[in-house]
Amino acid sequence: MTPGPERLTEGDLDDALWRLLSASDRDDPAAFTAEHDRAAATLDAATDPCWSAWRHALAARRGLVDGDPRAVAAEVSAAREALGGCRPSAQTALTLAHLAHVEVAADHADTGMVLAIDASLLTQTAAAERPSRALHQAHLWLALTLAALDLEELAVAQALQGSRVADQLPGLADRWRLLQLCAQQHAELAQTLHRRGEAERARELARTSVDCAEAARALGWEPAHGDQDLLDVVQAWAIACRGEVEDGLGPLRRAHKRVHRDGGTWLRGYADLVLARLLTRLAHDRSGGGHDAEATDLLVDAAGAFAAAGDRRRYRQCLLELGQGTAAMGRPAEALHWLEAYRADTGRALARGRELWAEMFVRRSRLREAERQNAHLRRVALEDPLTGLGNRRSAERRLGSMRLGAEPVSLAVVDIDRFKAVNDDTSHSHGDEVLRRVADLLREHCRTGDEVYRWAGDEFLVVLPRATEAQALTAVDRLRAAVADADWGELQLPEPVTVSIGVATATAAEDEPLGWRSLFDTADLHLFTAKRGGRNRVRTHGGRTAGEGAP
Ligand code: GH3
Ligand code: MG
Repeated sequence: MTPGPERLTEGDLDDALWRLLSASDRDDPAAFTAEHDRAAATLDAATDPCWSAWRHALAARRGLVDGDPRAVAAEVSAAREALGGCRPSAQTALTLAHLAHVEVAADHADTGMVLAIDASLLTQTAAAERPSRALHQAHLWLALTLAALDLEELAVAQALQGSRVADQLPGLADRWRLLQLCAQQHAELAQTLHRRGEAERARELARTSVDCAEAARALGWEPAHGDQDLLDVVQAWAIACRGEVEDGLGPLRRAHKRVHRDGGTWLRGYADLVLARLLTRLAHDRSGGGHDAEATDLLVDAAGAFAAAGDRRRYRQCLLELGQGTAAMGRPAEALHWLEAYRADTGRALARGRELWAEMFVRRSRLREAERQNAHLRRVALEDPLTGLGNRRSAERRLGSMRLGAEPVSLAVVDIDRFKAVNDDTSHSHGDEVLRRVADLLREHCRTGDEVYRWAGDEFLVVLPRATEAQALTAVDRLRAAVADADWGELQLPEPVTVSIGVATATAAEDEPLGWRSLFDTADLHLFTAKRGGRNRVRTHGGRTAGEGAP
């Protein structure tokens, strides 16, 4: 294809990216190449590191399409470097997942897995934010990557997560695609488990697969031809895996026929493979063994299609199933031929490597979960849940770490005036709201570098590092005024809210610096004087004062 005549503007880049991703998802090299040519110049001009990562990631996929492994390697490492400058987000997870898929398709299982792990960790972080298209697409590419690595259980989990995210968003096409993916991944895992003899779980997965396929149809979305055909094939197969082999055969034969009339190479291979599997099952159910001659022919065709489409994994599966099938038919020489070809293409190292990666994937995910819980516990231990301020424990920690005497420091103890009356005359939840607002006002109006804590009940502590007494008085009186001047009308309180504040300062170069506890006690004493003096005022050493009613 030649590049389109028009050049994309930067605003169009986002749309172009989705089209490029959709073309690569669809295994449509011509569409991908055309779109890539169109977007290339604009991508080249983008300077943002995240777009630069996309530029390289897409160029890597282009290298794959063009059969240029050197370009793939160079672009993947450039993309990884650019990704270092991107903030952790669903977009970054998507770029990583797409890159992982490119690496696995290029037969670099190890790097692909490392990228997939990083992408998966980022999706976990991003899941805490609002659902986004980037997030479910990250799950989609992770599912495709993990399936390509034969990590089918993990792939199913990713597909499910992606579908849940897509469900919360309005895009019907995306929801349909994720449901189709879920149906396919569940059916494939069902097949694997059935082969391993885990019949009950296999049937359960097949049931979920059918449910997903039906949910996709219920959306009323009209997908492209190939997509619909793939869903038909998958659903018929899942019906068979559910145990109703005869019921699956009719729909599968019809879908198979349609696919052979107008489907692409890969899809034809897929329909052949699935029909072969279904016929094998039927032969097994009817005669308790043996293999179907038609199934053998289908598997040979499927192997050819997958080899042509570059799907090495399914090509290998076909060889293995051909070996097993011909052995079951009592044709050992033929079986040996297929199994030899299978062995040559697989290699033990790969299988062992995969197991290790699978273990690491799960372990790192667990590690992340433990980290998350620790962070949560730390927060619970040090944060006051009502106001979000540091609690008394974190204030004490901070005070304990201060070196008094090296430079001046001031403490201010802030207490709400007649707060009990708020609780009594209105309600406890009004009281809570007052506490939250006072906390916000203190936080907003304190100097940069000052710290506000909730000490207890209606008492707050402000730490003013490096503030002399005079500076502290000014800063703290601003806090008092901010509370007194705030608009409390909405809460319909009997009295406007005010605070009284006691301040104490430890000066630099005191001969014997006081400990923080006695500094705190001094401030608390001054608070008491402020209350006695009529409230809504600031008091400090020697009766010095600021605020309403100050002399
Ligand atoms: P003063 O001017 O002398 O400070 O009078 P006051 O009524 O504010 O007296 P005090 O500071 O002793 O009252 C504190 C009240 O704060 C008592 C308690 O019921 C209330 N309180 C403590 N924690 C909470 C809370 O988390 N939520 C609510 N709504 N009330 C709280
Ligand atoms: Mg009070």
